[in-house]
Amino acid sequence: MLKILMIGPQASGKGTQSQILSTKFDLPIFSTGNILRQKASEEDELGKELSGIMKSGKLVSDDLVNKIIKEKIERDGKSGYILDGYPRNKSQVNFLDSIDELTHVFEIKVSDEESIHRVSGRRTCPKCQRVYHVDTNPPIKDGKCDDCGEYLYVREDEREDVLRDRLAIYHRETEPIISHYHAKNICHEIDGEQSIADVSRDLLQVLEK
Ligand code: AMP
Repeated sequence: MLKILMIGPQASGKGTQSQILSTKFDLPIFSTGNILRQKASEEDELGKELSGIMKSGKLVSDDLVNKIIKEKIERDGKSGYILDGYPRNKSQVNFLDSIDELTHVFEIKVSDEESIHRVSGRRTCPKCQRVYHVDTNPPIKDGKCDDCGEYLYVREDEREDVLRDRLAIYHRETEPIISHYHAKNICHEIDGEQSIADVSRDLLQVLEK
């Protein structure tokens, strides 16, 4: 059974590669970022609070994301899953360890410069959250989602100043958790600056071993 975690900075390709692996191995993707954006778009009190935190690029509370992931794993993760965007700090790692055991952790490496370059061309569908890039992965119809036809938008937390703060949080809080998985011998380093196809090839090489 595959229980995979994708770790990497913003726009390292985690989401794209998660989609590819999800299709190939028929695994659900649990992306805390997508789940939280959905909740943040609601007009209730939690939605407004989340929206404020996320626009600033800060992390939301561990309690909330732990609860979200626990529910997902218990309900839909019995035959395996892919985690994208969780765990993101030591306390979330400890919580996850207490409820389940991962089989593979992929650290997708890209430099801050590459991350900033990629994010500046990103466009997201407000409805299904599918992500495009104006140069490298454009939609068929200019500015509109291939799947639902909605107008694509630039996420507020993908503005360069906010992105730099998010990268700093990544280096300070998320990168250090990688050593935890190295110690368990389940961590694999992947060069994320290659083409999408080459990154997939490297991931599959590990998974099909
Ligand atoms: P992402 O799309 O994964 O970069 O997530 C977007 C935003 O959602 C982050 O900047 C955080 O505000 C929030 N978020 C996503 N995952 C987590 C997490 N595991 N812990 C805390 N906040 C998170």
